[in-house]
This record gives sequence, structure tokens and C-alpha cells, in this order.
Amino acid sequence: MRQKDAEHYKALREQAESLIAMQKESVIPPDQTEIARVFHDLTVYQIELEMQNEQLRLTQAELLGAQKNIDQLFDLAPVGYLILSGKAEILRSNRTLHDLLDYHGDEFNNRKYFAQFVYTDDLIIFNARYQAFFKRPENKRIELRLQKRQGSPVLVELSGRLVKSVTPQQIIQYGDFYLLVNIVDISARKQLEEELRLAAKVFENSDEGILITDHQSRIVKVNPAFTAVTGYEADEVIGKSPAVLKSHKHSPEFYRQMWNKINREGSWQGEIWNRRKNGDFYLECLSINAITDQFGRASHFIGIFSDITRRRHDEQQIEIMAHYDALTDLPNRVLFNERLKHSIVRATRHKQWISVLFLDLDRFKNLNDTLGHFIGDLLLQGVAKRLKACVRESDTVSRFGGDEFMIVLSDFEDEQTVTLHTAEIAKKILSELTKAFDLSGNKFMTTTSIGVAFFPKDGHSVAELMKNADTAMYHAKGQGRNNYQCYSDDMREQALTRSTLENDLRSALENQELVLHYQPVVNLQTAEIVGFEALIRWRHPKRGLIPPDQFIPIAEETGLITDIGEWVLHSACRQLKIWHGAGKSTLKMSVNLSARQFMQHNLVEIIKHVLELNALEPHYLELEITETVIMKNMNQTAKMLKNLQHLGVSISLDDFGTGYSSLTYLKLFPVNILKIDRSFIRDILEANDDKVIVNSIIAIAQHMRLNIITEGIERPEQVHYLKSQGCQFGQGYLFAMPCIAEECLFSVKDFSQENI
Ligand code: C2E
Ligand code: MG
Ligand code: MG
Repeated sequence: MRQKDAEHYKALREQAESLIAMQKESVIPPDQTEIARVFHDLTVYQIELEMQNEQLRLTQAELLGAQKNIDQLFDLAPVGYLILSGKAEILRSNRTLHDLLDYHGDEFNNRKYFAQFVYTDDLIIFNARYQAFFKRPENKRIELRLQKRQGSPVLVELSGRLVKSVTPQQIIQYGDFYLLVNIVDISARKQLEEELRLAAKVFENSDEGILITDHQSRIVKVNPAFTAVTGYEADEVIGKSPAVLKSHKHSPEFYRQMWNKINREGSWQGEIWNRRKNGDFYLECLSINAITDQFGRASHFIGIFSDITRRRHDEQQIEIMAHYDALTDLPNRVLFNERLKHSIVRATRHKQWISVLFLDLDRFKNLNDTLGHFIGDLLLQGVAKRLKACVRESDTVSRFGGDEFMIVLSDFEDEQTVTLHTAEIAKKILSELTKAFDLSGNKFMTTTSIGVAFFPKDGHSVAELMKNADTAMYHAKGQGRNNYQCYSDDMREQALTRSTLENDLRSALENQELVLHYQPVVNLQTAEIVGFEALIRWRHPKRGLIPPDQFIPIAEETGLITDIGEWVLHSACRQLKIWHGAGKSTLKMSVNLSARQFMQHNLVEIIKHVLELNALEPHYLELEITETVIMKNMNQTAKMLKNLQHLGVSISLDDFGTGYSSLTYLKLFPVNILKIDRSFIRDILEANDDKVIVNSIIAIAQHMRLNIITEGIERPEQVHYLKSQGCQFGQGYLFAMPCIAEECLFSVKDFSQENI
């Protein structure tokens, strides 16, 4: 007997004996000693047994309690428990597992095999691996999906321990070995892992540079995009401060404010210039976020940035393209408008004056058409350069497209200053532009017409100032180009008249408002009428008789001249035919051709047609063109003149002496007659200059076998002088005013009778 048991037994016996001692007197008679002893012993035994029984009962109750605790622990463990046999029969399972799969205990226990809970798609994994897992579960884990009661899967991890059955009961119940399996729901963990994997992928593959620092601003991690932008490999910057990227383009104040905001609000966003490893500056769009620990203290800072140097450069390019003229680099219309608006605001505030100059190069289109756009572009660039040189740095010179330029001069105290200064600049521009341009080895000249409008006198808005400067510019063109004109209200009046005239002219032909007057051309030697010049007039229903100078330019610009010109040719030829029919069969007819008419590609056909229609020989028709028309496009002119000559019509050079008058060109063109302009005749008797000019023109004409007609003869003395110089023909009020056909022959007759 073991020491402990012996002591226990001895204690029991002592207790039993003291109980009997208390009962002895009454129960056992004193004389029956032997029996009494035996009885005593039996009683002791009985008591001992009872006491032992009691002890056993207590122990059993304790055991049951303990068992219950263990069952509870088993059931309520934070992980699922499962006892499986080698064949994966479920021997026992806990509530945590039931709960995980949404089963009641009974329902769960009704199923015999664990495979019945495995998600169908994962059965193959389970079946394939279970045996190996059962035999040696150490360090093995099976991840698979179980199927919840409603059918949805739940991802779990199985780990296990092989246990040897010890009690006979276990052997009967579980077999020799059983598997104790832990089942853990790993969905959340997996999701987290997945998120981390994703985050890592984003970090690695992001197009944006990412830089993570610890709370002491030491770089702890950078991504490949960081390296791509900055040129620094991760190991070159880890442990260092982001200051390695500093460009020193920002003030300490900039960084102070940035960190203030991060500390206060946890983040900062903005644009910042940094520097790459190779020393290049770059602009990045950066956002910095503070990462806080559980105590709210910043533990890390994450900087995410993208390199926007290129984008900014592109934006700037777009800005330039939107506001500057690509050819000349001058501000364009859009920027000009902005600047002028700005100047107006400032001038209004400071009570200052501004001037707006509208420039249009003279005859630029001609140059562009004949010499090509390349030369045209070079000229515009040259002009732009000279214009800029003519004004102050602060003044705006802009190109409005084509050959139009605008200039704003600002900051003038009063009207007098602005007028004076603007006049100076305008004159300077006019003279600068007339200096020859050297364009790819050739010298070219140009002139410009300038219109000026002043703020506040001529307008308060951008639109008004520009419109009035434009009107003034047109006026300058009308004044013979190569000059500047300041806007006046009369111009507006004129512009208005012009625009109504333009409108009316469109219907003038249809309404038969156009008429021809005829002025005789006289042989000065014989006083015979040799022909007539057809001169157009417009009988305006409201304005009366309008002379050609006032509407031919409008007809030219609007293109109406082609129809009007054709009408003149028809009417004049028809009239000539009538006179021929009336016996004046030697008379010739002169018809004026304007520039645009002369450039008409089918002019020869038209003339041919008109002559045929009126059954007129071509030599009865003279066409008058001015020198300027000839000089405009010499190649084309020469061709046209040859064709006309071939047709048999004569050509006169009208207003001779007033234009370019290059006598050398005369040789090149087949011209028959020179009409000396009336401005030379008017004072010919008094002005020596005019005499010299007229005499030399006559001499040259004679030398070149050209006929001469002098225009504007008003006095008989002029006839005498011109006759003495050998001039053959003349025209003028002296002989006859231009008049309608019906009156013509009479007036001529009168003259013939009086003066022969
Ligand atoms: P032009 O061809 O030089 O015509 C001569 C102009 O001088 C005419 O003016 C005529 O009336 C004027 N004149 C004639 N004799 C005298 C005189 O003794 N003294 C003065 N001071 N003037 C005299 P008009 O008719 O006003 O024509 C002006 C210009 O208009 C013409 O100049 C011509 O270039 C143009 N023109 C006239 N008719 C037509 C036409 O049918 N078609 C085209 N394209 N132009 C025309
Ligand atoms: Mg004429
Ligand atoms: Mg003339």
C-alpha cells in the first residue's frame, strides 16, 4: 500500500472509530466482548465503505464537472475543432465549426463524412491530400473551401495532430489513431493578403513616383517610377532625406508652409520643382500624406508625384500657339484684344490716352501672288521686325493675319502728347518700311497704309477703336496709300455713304441707272473729231449724277466692275456703230478698263464678242489702261496686251506721267497711244516743269512711234502750244464737255465751225 493510501486509510479508521465510540454504550452489551469486537470491526468497515463511496461520488462529480468544462472549451474554442478518422469520418466536431458553416449541431452531426462539407470544386484537393495529411499532419496545412449550409463557400485552413487512442473506449470509438483538426476561417486573412499583394503591385507598377519616409523624413521605400523620374536607384536614396531632390527654386518659406499644412491637416498637394540625378530640373505634381500610428502620431509620409514638366511645356506651347502668330512670333488677334482691353482699363483709371494703329501693307497680295508665299512670308517677318523696332518694348505690335498689323501705344498724358508721339511713330514706320528688304537675295520694297484711332476720343471699347482705326486705314488707302490718317467723324460719314453706295450699285445696272457720256478726241492740227472717249456716270435716283471716280473703285472692290465694264463696252460699241451708220465712219471709240477688268482671263473673248455683235472692225476700238495697271503684274500684262494687239484693238496708256512712268517699260509693252495726264496740261503755259515733261514725253513718243493725246485742254493757247510741240490729238472742255450721245455731234460741229 502506498504511503498516501495508508495515511488515508488510517484517517478513515480513526474517524470510524470515534463514531462507534459515540454509539458503543447503547448498541453493544458489555459482556459480549468477542461479538462486540467483530461487530465493532464490521461497523468500522461499513462506515469506511460508506465514506469511501461518498468520496467516489465526490470525485465522479468533479470529473463530470471537469469533463463539462473541457467540452465547453472544445465547443467554444476560437477555432473549429474536428476529430476525424483515417477515412475522414467525423468523429467529433465543435460548435465554432458549426457556427462557421451555419449549421445546428444535430444537422451537422447527421453527416458522416467531412467530405460532405467540402466545397464541390475543392473535393479533388481534399481527397488527394487527406491520406497524407492524416498520416503525417505535422507542418502540413490544407487550404480549401468548405460549403456553408446555404451553399456559399468559406475559405479555411486545416492543420492537424495525429493522436493515439489510449482508453479502450477511445479505441472502440476512434480506432487506434484519430486526427485532431484545427479549422481556421482565413477569408479575411486572404483578402488582406490579396490587398497587400495588390498594393505592392500598384506600388511597383504605378506610373506615379512614390516615396515613403519615416517620421524623421528618412526615405524608407521608393518605387520604380521614382527611379524613372529622378534617376536615383532605390539603394541610392534609402536612408537619405528627400532633400536630395531639392531644386533650390523654392524659398524656405515655401517648404515651411508645406510642412505646416501637412502637420495641421495631414496632407499637402501642389506643384514643385525638383532636380534629377543628372542635374535637370523637373516639375512635379506632388501630394504628400501623413500616415499616423494608433496614437495619432505621424509614423510615415507618403509622397506621390508625377512628372509634369512635359505637360507644362506642352501647355505653354498651346498657350503660345493660341496667342502668338506662328510666322512672326507677334501677339495674334486674341492676345491683342486682351492687351488692348487691359490698356483701356488702365488708361481709364489713370485718365490716360492710347492710340491704336491699324496697318495694311500696300499691294501685298500682288507680291504674294507673283513672287510666291515664301517671299511673302519673308516680307511679313521682315516687316514685323521693323515694326517692333519702331516702338517701345512696352507697346504691343501684333499681326492680325494676312498683311494686317495692329499697334497699341499707351501711357500718354493728354491728347497733344498722344497725337504727337503717334504721328512720329507712324512716320517712322512709313519710312522704315520703304527701305528695301533683302529677301533671300533679292531686294523688295513695300509701303503701308496706316489708320489711327485714339482712346478716349475715337472710342471707348476695343471693337470701336479697332473699327475706327480700320476706317482711317481705308481712308489712307484712298489717299494714295503709303500714308497715315487719323480717324475723324467725317470718315465715318464717308464710310457710311460708301456702304450705302455699294449697296445701291448692285442694282444700278439692272435699274438702268448707268449712262455713258462721250467726249470727243480732236485732231489738233485739223480740228477734226477723230473719236470719242466713253465715260461712265451713275444717275443715282437720290444723289443725282455721280462721277466715275466715286463708284468705279467700289465696283472694283466688289467685283461688280466685270458686269459694268462689259456693259460699257457693249454700249460704247453700239453707239459707235450708230455714228458709223450716220456717216461718221472714221470715228474711233475709247473705252476705259480698270485693273480688275484688265486681269479678267476672258477679256479678249469678251471684246471679240462685242465687236462681232456690233459688226465693228477691231481697229475702231481703243482700250485705255493706266500705267499702274500695267506695272502691277508685268508678265500677265504683257501676255494680255499681246493678245489684244493680235486681235487688232489699240491700247492707250491713260493718265500718263502720274504713275510709275517707267519709260523703259514702254518698250516691252505693245502700246499705241500715250494720253498725257491733264495735270500736266493745266498749267503748261505757266509752269516750265510741265512744259519740259510734256515736251520730253512727246519726243519719246515720236521716237517710239506712239500717238499722243493730251487731256484736259481748256484754253485755246494750250492748243496752240501743244500743236507747236507736234502733239497730234487732244481732249478737253475747250472742245466739248463729256455729254450724252444725242448731244455729241452738235457740240463738235460747233467747235469745228468756230475754230477752223
Ligand atoms: P480719264 O480716263 O482720264 O478720263 C478723263 C477725265 O477727265 C474725265 O473725267 C473727263 O470728264 C475729264 N475731263 C475731260 N476734259 C477735261 C477738261 O478740260 N478739264 C478737266 N478738268 N477735266 C476734263 P470723268 O468722266 O469724271 O472720269 C474720271 C475717270 O474715271 C476717268 O479718267 C477714267 O479713269 C474713269 N472712268 C470713266 N469711265 C469709265 C469706265 O467706263 N470704266 C472705267 N473702268 N473707268 C472709267
Ligand atoms: Mg480715259
Ligand atoms: Mg486720263
